[in-house]
Amino acid sequence: MIQHEIRVQHTFCRICEVLCGLEITTEGNEIISVTPDRRHIATKGFACPKGLKQHHLYSSPDRIKYPMKREGSEWSRISWKQALEEIGSKVRRIRDDFHPNAIGMYVGTAAGFSVLHPVFAQGFMTAIGSANMFSSSTQDCSNKFAVASEMYGFPFTQPFPDLQRIACLIIVGANPMISKWSFLQVPNPKEKLQSIVERGGKLYHIDPRKTETAKIGGEHLFIRPGTDLFFYLSFLNEVIKRDGVKKAHVARYMTGFEALAAIAMEWPAEKTAQVTGIEPARLKIMVSDYLSANGAALYCSTGVNMGSHGSLAFWIQECINAVTGNLDRFGGTLVSKGIIDFPKFGKKNNLLTRTVLSRVGNCRSVNDAFPGGILADEILTPGKEKIRALFVTGGNPLITMPDSGRLRDAFKELDLLVALDILPTETVSMAHYALPCTTPLERPDLPFIFPLMLGLQGQPYLQATRAIVQPDGEQRDEASIYLDLCRHSGIDLFGSGFAQHLLQWFSKNRNYGGCKHPEIPQEGMLNLLLRVCGQSGFTTLLKYPQGRLRPPHKENFLAKRMVTTDKKVNLAPGILIEASGSLEQHFQKEVADANRFKLITKRAVKTHNSWTHNFKEFVREPDHTNYLYMSSTDAFDLGLCDGDLVDVTSETAAVRLPMQICDDLGPKTVALPHGWGHQHSGLKVARRTKGVNVNILAASGPSKIDRVSGMALLTGILVNITKADGSQDDHSWSGLP
Ligand code: SF4
Repeated sequence: MIQHEIRVQHTFCRICEVLCGLEITTEGNEIISVTPDRRHIATKGFACPKGLKQHHLYSSPDRIKYPMKREGSEWSRISWKQALEEIGSKVRRIRDDFHPNAIGMYVGTAAGFSVLHPVFAQGFMTAIGSANMFSSSTQDCSNKFAVASEMYGFPFTQPFPDLQRIACLIIVGANPMISKWSFLQVPNPKEKLQSIVERGGKLYHIDPRKTETAKIGGEHLFIRPGTDLFFYLSFLNEVIKRDGVKKAHVARYMTGFEALAAIAMEWPAEKTAQVTGIEPARLKIMVSDYLSANGAALYCSTGVNMGSHGSLAFWIQECINAVTGNLDRFGGTLVSKGIIDFPKFGKKNNLLTRTVLSRVGNCRSVNDAFPGGILADEILTPGKEKIRALFVTGGNPLITMPDSGRLRDAFKELDLLVALDILPTETVSMAHYALPCTTPLERPDLPFIFPLMLGLQGQPYLQATRAIVQPDGEQRDEASIYLDLCRHSGIDLFGSGFAQHLLQWFSKNRNYGGCKHPEIPQEGMLNLLLRVCGQSGFTTLLKYPQGRLRPPHKENFLAKRMVTTDKKVNLAPGILIEASGSLEQHFQKEVADANRFKLITKRAVKTHNSWTHNFKEFVREPDHTNYLYMSSTDAFDLGLCDGDLVDVTSETAAVRLPMQICDDLGPKTVALPHGWGHQHSGLKVARRTKGVNVNILAASGPSKIDRVSGMALLTGILVNITKADGSQDDHSWSGLP
């Protein structure tokens, strides 16, 4: 019997923004266990079940190990050579016969957790000359990028709350206990939030549901879904009335206050209470607490981002933090620096600052990507630039995008659909080619762009990891695949022959099924990135297996690091002022719909987006489905009991699923977890779950998205709820065979 070496290696998780330090025990090339790294300098032994069980997801028998080709309903294994030659020749033909924009790409969240993957994916699209990039950010966070571009001059300038020192934190539409923080890397949300309360600080939660986070401590106020904007406007109204604006500070560092104030003064708390449900007296106490605190911040996440008017709401939030002097101060919000001054670098090199308009609907691009909500339109609308070929990289749009039923129909029209993934998701199942990729644990890496280039971390640090195990088939890293796709498509990465040839020259040729293909020197590339940014190299960083501290945050953003033309924060960007012109109309619509149900999303700790449903332990009974949650009062009014089957109908579609009573929800608010509905995938465990895809209820198309940011409306959707025939034990409702 062969004895394999047992090793303990240090790395970090790349599933969510916490990037928990992990200790991984391997025997030969097999992962035996994953445990939290207690000595990690930032995460200090914090981790969650998803990160600790991720190796089971990756070792699934469903894993894509070889390039695969679909003809009709039949999949067959092919060589890398065949896959690349066939895809390359189709790319050439479509580009030559139609237009470079006839080739599109969708980049999913998983791609963003690697450093090289998104860079090389963009390099491939630039090589093609196509502007048709789409990304998952228009599902959950593009409003923040769009607003930051307008206010701070760069999309990635994202102030975050200084949780260590804050004296008053108001969390709006966020649930860090389950989803962790977003646009901020901080472990152990429970400990951080409890410590605010323990040191006498104020903690508020504004949410349509009393979330797991709200139960930790502080005060929770219910808000009607989709009315956050009116809450923020009244908050600012009250700040102004109480003379809470630091006028000299605003005059020195900001412009546009008068125009902003003119809008806010139209929305007193007494007026907006009609739609938000927040009593004016309670809002005023909260404003008092905020203004009297020695450091305060409003913080929001997906509940605001994905709802109606996410851009306007985030804009007003940022303005409140700014005009009260809480932006760029310890205990308020901080704007950190990564390993370079990325906004300065981006502005200088015109990186991520272009805005172009889409062919269909004239929708703006944000961060060089168009709204996912118009992808189906771009495929279905005739024309030379109609998308005929689509690359999907690290994402599963058929579950995560709005109106995914329509998107599925659109995908059937494609001449070429190529998916780069690790598992046969529902998107992969529709692809013509599936290209097998490495998992996070099979590649070297640095922390992704937010901590690395922007320092969005409670405690700034840097860490490097080697690949922990090697792929057991012909899986390749995405950067190498895109380099090779360029070669076979007759184009050069980033349109640069020099870059293409240099990278090919430095790549090691590896044997994949009898043919040699380049594997880029990933560690060498990461090393180069570190060196160019003035850091010590990758190998040096590996000597700090639990991370190495970087200099602490500073309060120098307003005085020294603004990149707007006049070096001031723009409190009244034209596009947002223009969008606020229809506030009264939105308000009247909310008044008219006050008695209708609104649907919000919800997440469980073991299910992350659409990624983790293929592991039995995460989805076994009773968690084999998602449920519609509803308060007992609303259920009583509708004559419903726990476990009843219900139909949830939006303007777009309907789903049928069992309901459960949840008295954490506010009135006329129902919740349905997203990421489910895998019955059309090749995932053997996930496809046996009964959950439904909530995103088929969301609308798509240019008229249905936020014009500022391209965000789809994925929470706060108006729905009707009716009792359906049958029981939850009867599988027929779920689309299962
Ligand atoms: S919280 Fe969980 S999923 Fe997120 S990085 Fe840590 S272990 Fe990974």
